[in-house]
Amino acid sequence: MAYDPENVFAKILRGEIPCNKVYEDEFALAFHDINPQAPVHVLVIPKGEYVSMADFTADAPAELVVGYMRAVGKVADELGLIEPGYRTIANAGPNSHQEVPHLHIHIMGGKPLGPMLDKSFG
Ligand code: 5GP
Repeated sequence: MAYDPENVFAKILRGEIPCNKVYEDEFALAFHDINPQAPVHVLVIPKGEYVSMADFTADAPAELVVGYMRAVGKVADELGLIEPGYRTIANAGPNSHQEVPHLHIHIMGGKPLGPMLDKSFG
């Protein structure tokens, strides 16, 4: 899938639309989800044009892959989630219901989150 530079997270990265920022460095930007699904729900996006984890890990420079993943860990720490625990999710493609075609890792926490997935698939 080709990267669409008009996706909403690209616009946030360019500063064309606002976000409620929680963290930024040269590799990543983190901000609160506009429609939170948990008491803490933050999105971390890499500073680069990548649709999802596959093209990011295949094509991004190694320092960006490392810097981005470090940022995810740092944000979870700064949000106070390490001790109580939290969940990270990165949706990719139609079966996952990925809505925004710019790689993002959801960080969710602030309460017991229940089972990871709906068990009704089987
Ligand atoms: P996905 O389903 O692609 O994994 O998740 C996309 C997430 O982006 C959703 O949780 C949705 O609420 C969030 N989102 C969509 N548009 C915006 C926006 O303009 N600002 C923020 N902060 N979050 C957004």
